[in-house]
Amino acid sequence: MILKGKTALVTGSTSGIGLGIACKLAEAGANVMINGFGDVEGAITRVAAYGTTVLHHPADVTDAAQIGDMISQTEGDFGSLDVLVNNAGIQYVAPVEHFPVERWDSIIAINLSSVFHTMRLALPGMRERNWGRIINISSVHGLVASAQKAAYVAAKHGVIGLTKTVALETATTGVTCNALCPGWVLTPLVQQQIDSKAQGHGDPNRATRELLMEKQPSLDFVTPEELGDLALFLCSEAARQVRGAAWNVDGGWLAQ
Ligand code: NAD
Repeated sequence: MILKGKTALVTGSTSGIGLGIACKLAEAGANVMINGFGDVEGAITRVAAYGTTVLHHPADVTDAAQIGDMISQTEGDFGSLDVLVNNAGIQYVAPVEHFPVERWDSIIAINLSSVFHTMRLALPGMRERNWGRIINISSVHGLVASAQKAAYVAAKHGVIGLTKTVALETATTGVTCNALCPGWVLTPLVQQQIDSKAQGHGDPNRATRELLMEKQPSLDFVTPEELGDLALFLCSEAARQVRGAAWNVDGGWLAQ
């Protein structure tokens, strides 16, 4: 129960990786503010099963004012914001010359600018208490590119730069800031990509195999639970000098 009495905010935690991380933080004793769209009640039920207090804030993280409201409501309702996990993210796949401008704008807003806004607003309280953990969910696409993912790759590289900057600005404090860089994790975000691959030949199993074989040598998915365990390690005292890391968890993707 290393997070007993602490509060975590996980953006985009109604699904996939964010939900997996929120569950692990609650299991370790944290009260959790979840955020995101879709099956909110289902997500609250899953996280609350660990026995801590769970609330949902409906902020659309493209909007700085709504992010401001989410941070102040978290601090107001729970008394502090100690663990900030920036996880909300979307994907869109197209060659750069056909990339819709509005998709570019929303990917940069959700996957990158929201990380700036939550951090700038959460840091004063963390500095005051001299303890905080910021975990930004980047991607292997924060470290290498893939074709047709211009906005996503730009945003995820940006998240790593932002993470390093904040890690330096907080280096002499009890606040740490790190990034996780997952390879393929089987969530709705990746399922969409499998479905569009399968449209070609109508075989979802073959599409899944092809997706893994192209990039991930383990030929197996990373799980949200594994990422949750790593997030929990970053929250531990053992990780107090892990600062500005971009930690890949990718079945060997970046070893190639
Ligand atoms: P997902 O689609 O399962 O979940 C995305 C979450 O973000 C949902 O809760 C959704 O409601 C929320 N969200 C989307 N737009 C939002 C907005 N405007 N405001 C607030 N919430 C919003 O996706 P996932 O695969 O779990 O992805 C989570 C994060 O992990 C993303 O940042 C993604 O880029 C990153 N990631 C995923 C993979 C993967 O293989 N799935 C790999 C590397 C990195």
